[in-house]
Amino acid sequence: MRYALSGPYSLDFKPVNPRSRAGKNGKLLLCPHCKGLSRVYHFSWSALSCQTCGKSINKYDWEVGHK
Ligand SMILES: [Zn+2]
Repeated sequence: MRYALSGPYSLDFKPVNPRSRAGKNGKLLLCPHCKGLSRVYHFSWSALSCQTCGKSINKYDWEVGHK
């Protein structure tokens, strides 16, 4: 899905896959439950708690933002 961020930025979000990499600036993740954004700097986890709604979400249920 296309997600408009504040300012002139928008990102395309696609499901996390085994090739997802954070890069040196990290990547934004979109929570499938609350559509809250969390930033990650690596993908060496199997589940992560959403910083907005607190639910534990499996890696491949998150969507990762691509410019
Ligand atoms: Zn959430």
